[in-house]
Amino acid sequence: MKQILTTYSPPHGHWVGDGFPVRTLLSYSRMGAANVSPFLLLDYAGPAVFPPSSPIRGVGQHPHRGFETVTLVYQGELEHRDTSGAGGLIGEGDVQWMTAGAGIVHEEFHSRRFAERGGPLEMVQLWINLPARDKGTPAAYQTLLRNNIPTVTLGDSDGYLRVVAGDYLGVVGPARTFTAINVWDLYLEPGAKLDLPIPAGHTALLVVLMGTVHLNGSEVLRDAELARLAREGKDITIETNNRAHLLLLSGEPINEPVAGQGPFVMNTQEEIQQAIMDFRDGKFGVLNP
Ligand code: MN
Repeated sequence: MKQILTTYSPPHGHWVGDGFPVRTLLSYSRMGAANVSPFLLLDYAGPAVFPPSSPIRGVGQHPHRGFETVTLVYQGELEHRDTSGAGGLIGEGDVQWMTAGAGIVHEEFHSRRFAERGGPLEMVQLWINLPARDKGTPAAYQTLLRNNIPTVTLGDSDGYLRVVAGDYLGVVGPARTFTAINVWDLYLEPGAKLDLPIPAGHTALLVVLMGTVHLNGSEVLRDAELARLAREGKDITIETNNRAHLLLLSGEPINEPVAGQGPFVMNTQEEIQQAIMDFRDGKFGVLNP
């Protein structure tokens, strides 16, 4: 059994742009980069209901370098554009896997349709580090549509799991990753009781988005709480009383120094200064209005 090392409760929320009321459930600067590697940050946006609005809400163009951003939309719809030439809609159940790599400029907004109608918004943005050897990889973008994300039934009536990245008992997710990573999206029924096998040696984080779960028979985790598990050992047990929505993140740690500032995550302060200069010099490209 993987031991529970720590649990984290939700901090106060904040806004990202005017479109995303988030709670930061995971933060490498707060929790220690080595403890959570290869994961860097997890912002949980909503659930929040937006009225119809004519200025479209969101975050205007900004850069990233040195890592990947993964956006999972659960309710609502987003529209994205970036300097790799990619763009498009991210709807309910879809995932956008963006590799900032050497550098990208992008914008993230509510879609026009969602802004006009209003409604509930719920999504997660996860930042995943790249090893030093891949921080200079060209920017790239993967659209993982709901229908291309395989689903695995859990037990007789425990619920189901979506394999976004990595694999679960041989069912392989569609995301291409630079290091070994599992991103499992779990929807559990009331009274579920399951063992989840997680690779030994991986950093493992259980994120409760909705519901209350009993983890390893010892800790109770509520919505917007997270548990960090030991790298040793393989399984965890999860029990629910009511319906729950969880994310299980696991990954091989990247044992390298981490230097981060805002939208840049590199290995040294010199590389951060270089990123700031390169962005100012327009080397990340330009997004046309
Ligand atoms: Mn961004």
